[in-house]
Amino acid sequence: MSHRPVIQFPDSKLRAVANPVRDFHSEAFQTLICDMVATMRKRRGIGLAATQIGVALQVAVIELKDGPLVMANPVVNKLSRQQEEDEEGCLSVVAVFGMVPRAAALHLRAQDAHGRWYEMNAKGLFARVIQHEYEHLQGKLFVDRCTRITAGAPRAHELGLAIPS
Ligand code: ZN
Repeated sequence: MSHRPVIQFPDSKLRAVANPVRDFHSEAFQTLICDMVATMRKRRGIGLAATQIGVALQVAVIELKDGPLVMANPVVNKLSRQQEEDEEGCLSVVAVFGMVPRAAALHLRAQDAHGRWYEMNAKGLFARVIQHEYEHLQGKLFVDRCTRITAGAPRAHELGLAIPS
């Protein structure tokens, strides 16, 4: 298990659209999952997508109260029409935080670290993190949706982000 460097915005690797995970049983994939969890914890994140460590595979890890949850080949649907706006940050956009509107609830279908399918309903912060990580796998970042910077405006400006504060 080792920590891996987290790629920083605006690196173009963060814009890669990830490929489906097909081989769950390889040592490389199991090591990837362990490294992602270790990296997320070390950085005190609540989620990390493989895209953020330069691996273009559809897998992310999430850890709130319980966990870690492995979300491979995720399918997100039943996004609620009701949206909630809350503050987000990202380990790939260090020291910048801002408000992001997201669907308040959703349904997730995904595979775990061993390729077993599971499904669940999520709401609130959990639904928010799922959407944030899911979008990493599509090459999207929270700053694409951010309506207002709440902290780190000078850094956001340095990064060329034209978001009001
Ligand atoms: Zn992120």
